[in-house]
Amino acid sequence: MDVYDVVIIGGGPAGLTAGIYAMRAKLNTLCVEKEREGGKIAEAGIVENYPGFESIRGYELAERFVKHAKRFNLNIVYDNVVKLDTEERPFKVIGENNTYVTRAVVIASGTREKRLGLNEDKFIGKGVSYCTTCDAFFYLNKDVIVIGRDTPAIMSALNLKDIARRVTIITDKKELRAAERIMLDRLKEGENISVIKNAKVIEILGKEKVEGVLISVDGEERVVKGDGIFISIGHEPNSQFLEGSGVELVNGFVKVDRECKTNIEGIFACGDITGGVLQVTKAVGEGAVAVASAVKYLNKLDKGYL
Ligand SMILES: Cc1cc2nc3c(=O)[nH]c(=O)nc-3n(C[C@H](O)[C@H](O)[C@H](O)COP(=O)(O)OP(=O)(O)OC[C@H]3O[C@@H](n4cnc5c(N)ncnc54)[C@H](O)[C@@H]3O)c2cc1C
Repeated sequence: MDVYDVVIIGGGPAGLTAGIYAMRAKLNTLCVEKEREGGKIAEAGIVENYPGFESIRGYELAERFVKHAKRFNLNIVYDNVVKLDTEERPFKVIGENNTYVTRAVVIASGTREKRLGLNEDKFIGKGVSYCTTCDAFFYLNKDVIVIGRDTPAIMSALNLKDIARRVTIITDKKELRAAERIMLDRLKEGENISVIKNAKVIEILGKEKVEGVLISVDGEERVVKGDGIFISIGHEPNSQFLEGSGVELVNGFVKVDRECKTNIEGIFACGDITGGVLQVTKAVGEGAVAVASAVKYLNKLDKGYL
């Protein structure tokens, strides 16, 4: 069985950057991706805050990351990692299809959308969506509802405003806050966007497909009609596979120091999975830092210092 120098878990911006640096460092590297190389940025409409690209579609940026990593011959396999075994060294990254043995690990598994936890499962594919970039065009000239908070809700509404007839944001907050104030300016400019604040969502309404949502505002129930509902209440970390691994988590996010080291020597993490600012610039920066730390670690290991 091959023993890799480094196995990277996740092929998003953080994992692919780690891959580029690891390949250039001539490490025997494998990237394990469960779904779609390129990561979540492929779901973004237009990205305007990644330096070097004044404006670029999210999927195009994702494609460029993948192409760049492949140019350095990064080996990407498709597998869902279900466990990280740190009992013995080398470590074992255990996927549904295979087990990958490695001297160092870079965790770059990102986040996934939070669920409302109401009756939404019944309506997935029938009017409930978590991704405006993927599904907005089903609602051309229709009325849509965004259930959410802060930056995720604002981003969804902005992605929908030029497609849908009317966009209603329903939020449980008193005020929407944005990571960048320019987003709030754009929200105000959206003439077909309205916001219902302090609202509690009680139930998604509809027989076969979404027809609206029942909410309560200041204790008073009311129905908001809509053809589609986009849920944008934020993200939670993809760290279930770390259960029992001994890697320290804080609210599910991997705890790292400035060198992207975790509490276990030889295991590093980067990108959205480390929490804080969930942006591509931070993900790619940490991808580079994680591999720089992995290189130092492997050098020490080779010299017998560890
Ligand atoms: C709609 C939307 C718009 C956005 N707009 C912007 C923007 O304008 N600017 C900006 O900077 N950022 C934006 N972001 C955020 C940006 O996409 C993320 O910060 C970035 O993708 C994080 O990169 P990452 O590699 O850490 O994680 P991700 O991109 O989430 O990649 C993680 C990868 O790991 C894989 N994975 C997860 N679990 C496993 C497992 N168990 N086994 C194997 N593989 C696994 C996933 O499939 C995924 O491909 C946006 C995000 C969304 C959803």
